[in-house]
Amino acid sequence: MSSSEITLKGFAKRCEAVRDLIDSLLAGRMEQSVLLCGACGVGKSTLATLLAQGLLCGEEDMARRPCGVCKSCVRVQKGTHPDCLKLQPDKGKKTVSVENVRSVLSVLSRSPLEGANRAVLIPRMEQLTDAAQNALLKTLEETQKGTWFLLTTDNETKVLSTIRSRCRTVRVAPFQEEEIASILLSEGVPASRAETAAALSEGSLTSAREIAQDDSFDRTQEWTVSLLFSGRGLEDYARLSFTLKNIKDQTDDILRLGVQELRLLIRRSSAGESLPDWADGVWSHAPIERCRAVLEMILQAQRMRQSNVSASAVMDMLVQQITEETSTWSL
Ligand SMILES: [Zn+2]
Repeated sequence: MSSSEITLKGFAKRCEAVRDLIDSLLAGRMEQSVLLCGACGVGKSTLATLLAQGLLCGEEDMARRPCGVCKSCVRVQKGTHPDCLKLQPDKGKKTVSVENVRSVLSVLSRSPLEGANRAVLIPRMEQLTDAAQNALLKTLEETQKGTWFLLTTDNETKVLSTIRSRCRTVRVAPFQEEEIASILLSEGVPASRAETAAALSEGSLTSAREIAQDDSFDRTQEWTVSLLFSGRGLEDYARLSFTLKNIKDQTDDILRLGVQELRLLIRRSSAGESLPDWADGVWSHAPIERCRAVLEMILQAQRMRQSNVSASAVMDMLVQQITEETSTWSL
């Protein structure tokens, strides 16, 4: 994740827990083991990198750290700073092993190479086997002076409670919609697309970037709306099932976008905000609990796809379910 436009100040505005953490870093009293939790794409690893920069930055005035431009900051960002270690799986592996942990710990037994501080980034704690997590325990319990451990995870339940109890746990809130739109704009995404991607991203910059960069997004959105949200009754089902035969390869994209669009509708409708463009006709005043029922149908279809039910069978069933459901809604 590029973080040139994302700063500690921006993070501090987002939620109190993160602001307190940043305050403690800048005051020179941050706990030595920090676990950053939160949904995928909310910027946990970017925040961990910024904290590591803050610890290793060459700027004397703590309040101005990280400067982002000194030799230290640049190397932390590039992943080449000798005192910023990263615990990750071997190439081609999905899990972090005890051996991976031991090799990082062996570096820690020596003094930092450049300054007094050192940071150990441990992204995706859920990738560590239980044995690997256990191998870390003692180190987290008796942290050496000047060494900070910055752990992140999308899934807190996969982190051993013994690890969690030794860390300051900080939950990172999702990005605000406007924040994502302005980051995308600064990355050169055209305004209308930036807004759509931000609205559909549910606060995840990663998924906003995916949507913004997806060349076939407009077409997928057209399919999604026409298949999932424009049918009214069985006649339409016959018309749609003809279309269905042509979109097999796009099924998973359509399901994913269907979930995002519907969540956006539910969110805006609950907040009394203007609905997405596609939500005309019955959708414009559909009760929220009925929209939730349709959302559940699409999620169920996604689960069936994950258990390898064929794309055509899943879409066929889903389109029929939704057209039946919406045909009972009165205009
Ligand atoms: Zn710096």
